[in-house]
Amino acid sequence: MPEKKSSKKSTGAPKSKKMVYFFGDGKADGKSEMKDLLGGKGANLAEMAGHKNLKLPVPPGFTITTEVCTEYYKNKGKYPSVLKGQVQDALKKIEKIMDKGFGDEKDPLLVSVRSGARKSMPGMMETVLNVGLTTKTIEGIIAQTGNERFAYDSYRRLITMYSDVVMEKAQGIETEEGKGIRAQLEKIMAAKKKERGITLDTDLTSEDLKELCKAYKEKVKEVLGKQFPDDPYEQLWGGIGAVFASWNGKRAISYRKIEGIPHEWGTAVNVQSMVFGNMGEDSATGVAFTRNPGNGDKNFYGEYLINAQGEDVVAGIRTPAPINKASQSDHNKGQKMLQEAMPAIYKQLDAIEKKLEKHYRDMQDIEFTIEKGKLYLLQTRIGKRNGPAAVKMAVDMVKEKLIKPEEAIKRVRPEQLDELLHPIIDPKVEKEIKPMAKGLPAGPGGAVGLIVLDAETAVEWKKEGKKVILVREETNPEDIEGMRASEGILTARGGMTSHAALVARGWGMCCVVGCGELEIDTKARTIKVGDIALKEGDWITVNGTKGTVYAQALPMISASEENMILKSFLILCDKVRKLKIRTNADTPSDAKRARDFGAEGIGLFRMEHMFYGKGAEEPLFKLRKMIVAGTEVERQNALDELFPFVKKDIKGTLAAMEGLPVTIRLLDPPLHEFVPHQEDQLEELARSLSISRAELDKRTSGLRESNPMMGHRGVRLGITYPEITRMSAKAILEASAELLKEGKKVFPEIMIPVVVTEKEVSQQKAIIEEVCAEVTAKYGIKKMPLMIGTMIETPRAALMSDKIALVAEFFSFGTNDLTQMGFGFSRDDIGAFLPEYIEKKILPDDPFQTIDKAGIGQLIKISIELGRKARKGLKIGICGEHGGEAKSISFCYESGMDYVSCSPFRVPIARLAAAQAVLK
Ligand code: PEP
Ligand code: MG
Repeated sequence: MPEKKSSKKSTGAPKSKKMVYFFGDGKADGKSEMKDLLGGKGANLAEMAGHKNLKLPVPPGFTITTEVCTEYYKNKGKYPSVLKGQVQDALKKIEKIMDKGFGDEKDPLLVSVRSGARKSMPGMMETVLNVGLTTKTIEGIIAQTGNERFAYDSYRRLITMYSDVVMEKAQGIETEEGKGIRAQLEKIMAAKKKERGITLDTDLTSEDLKELCKAYKEKVKEVLGKQFPDDPYEQLWGGIGAVFASWNGKRAISYRKIEGIPHEWGTAVNVQSMVFGNMGEDSATGVAFTRNPGNGDKNFYGEYLINAQGEDVVAGIRTPAPINKASQSDHNKGQKMLQEAMPAIYKQLDAIEKKLEKHYRDMQDIEFTIEKGKLYLLQTRIGKRNGPAAVKMAVDMVKEKLIKPEEAIKRVRPEQLDELLHPIIDPKVEKEIKPMAKGLPAGPGGAVGLIVLDAETAVEWKKEGKKVILVREETNPEDIEGMRASEGILTARGGMTSHAALVARGWGMCCVVGCGELEIDTKARTIKVGDIALKEGDWITVNGTKGTVYAQALPMISASEENMILKSFLILCDKVRKLKIRTNADTPSDAKRARDFGAEGIGLFRMEHMFYGKGAEEPLFKLRKMIVAGTEVERQNALDELFPFVKKDIKGTLAAMEGLPVTIRLLDPPLHEFVPHQEDQLEELARSLSISRAELDKRTSGLRESNPMMGHRGVRLGITYPEITRMSAKAILEASAELLKEGKKVFPEIMIPVVVTEKEVSQQKAIIEEVCAEVTAKYGIKKMPLMIGTMIETPRAALMSDKIALVAEFFSFGTNDLTQMGFGFSRDDIGAFLPEYIEKKILPDDPFQTIDKAGIGQLIKISIELGRKARKGLKIGICGEHGGEAKSISFCYESGMDYVSCSPFRVPIARLAAAQAVLK
């Protein structure tokens, strides 16, 4: 940033830029809005110390700005010249407040040096504590505290941290795992404990620690070739430099890449007076949350350790004790609560906690230390929370009038709702385990089960009461029974709109697809990823929200079923959103479930889906007969047989959605998916058509296409075989007529798929209207509340939308095919290359998950504009998988659609995302 020129009026020397911000003793140069400059931690420390409503007991300190970090890198590791003076001034203020001197041999001030970026990067950057301890000042600490053991314990911690962070890591010295200076010092400590026959650090005497410090310093000299510095200022500047250097450490860089944090931001450095929780039984340190981050309950919640420093809490050497009753759990139950051990301090802390939450209007994550009976606040920040807690806190805080509904809506990430709808892998356990492989997150939640490699085994094992995960190269309709019987599905090929993904998502089932590293050997009955080999029957766990696979059974936690809190939260969203939310459902039970989740109609009923799943054998057989029919008569016969099944299915779903619109799409079967592969089924099919096997084989091979996704499908089927359209229309309209006769309100919408020209639409529309006239006459109905529209799922259709809208009464974007055809990426074959496109940043996201605004988005915008120009108020929605994805929903809202349609389990997510789109 350029320096401001000094004003003309100024008479003195130009004022140098402020690089150091002080806080402490009820005052602060900064405030919480200054996160960009002071980092999250620095801004919050300033706010806690200096804001008129807070003025909390924060140990005094100062923050060196993120701008200094940026300059430090620009100037190849040199600090701006005025920095030293500003640091010196701030240090003086701390000395005054603490009544101690930095480097003073009688009563020395010790400080901590910590990082603090704009956004928290937990554990990614460095910290050095107890800076200022030297062979001289340690005598002062001993004299002041009368506690030699404490002094040497602090010193050995400083030597460990400093040599590791400043003398090794910041110098870019790379060591093999377990060979770094920290590990070598820890070995010395372990040897000492062994020699003394003890296991706990706390059992080391002051003499032991004194000897350790000596041995540590010798080791540092030996390994790093330099003396451990005995000058407090050298330590201070070493620490500051190491924090800046850690911004560009490997860990921090890769974390920023994952989290999308810009590398230019830089980190601030916080230098703060040390306070000690390890000064005896009247000292302690702890972490607390203003509400329970695991379930959202409005209870102060936390853990603490008597006579300990912060790192002891994190290191897990001792089990922390609960601060109060609400924080008790099985593992800490026996321990004394802070509320009992130090009642006055607890009372003070509880009052502060309440103040902080009120001030920040959000759940806070607090770090505190008690030094010799005096409480200090070291940090506050917005606390991380899981999905159920996020929803509960949002709803409660609105009720408490702490926040407005709009704020509550913004605080829950749409994907967090998944945690309330599906069982998930226990996140605490999952965090510790390395996945064996990664694929695409195709169906939400987690699942654990035994590996099965085919659908029949899945069904058999399920009958035996076993939990299974179906692992396949890819799935097809013949696997449906096995898919139903499984807890989750894993495929090696296929993308987010492949068969497995579509089916699993529709069922709300956990599914990972396109796991390219997976080698499946169906003969040897094994699966392999690199060196890891598993057999059929071995345990496996999949995370369908993240796309990860684990080579063992991990524990699951279940989602709450009838969630009233979720319902209240979604009602808040409904008051804000403008988009309608429909669902993609093809059975009465899915329709009902979606309705319970808040769906306002069906945006896509895929007629061909009635040939999958339970009870589908008979209609599927008839569909196959229709597909392989050789003559119109044969086909008509098969259609006549099929008709009652289709009508019954549609009627059930229309009834389940009574009073709401239901868009039923004309048959769009990818023919190749429906041709049987099994011998016995082929035999039976030939028999039922009274043709030879040779004749059947001839016909099925005639159906084989090079590019089935661009072949004889969608409306093309209706054009070549109008009798199919006729049968479908008759089934829809008779089902509707019967329900109308029963006094039910139904709103059927017939949708024509994969069109490229208005002529296809008008030709199909004529057939449907003709059937409609027949049906209304037959049932004596005056007017059928029917709309006839089209999908826009080919690029040509998008560009011809003004012509198409003259005949189509509504549009629905089929963004699965529109993406496939717009990109020329086969939906089912992206697994081989798309992951690399994302990794190499050639594409920002998987365009089958998140709508490609730049390209496909343009086609959509053009189509909407042309369509509405030709037909005023044209109803427009989306029914591709993007209709349930938050970023895409935001785009749908911006581009002026009327509704989005998604699988039932995504309806709540869509309700939230649609509300957030309005608030953006
Ligand atoms: C689409 O193409 O977006 C769509 C909804 O249709 P399908 O996925 O059935 O091809
Ligand atoms: Mg399609």
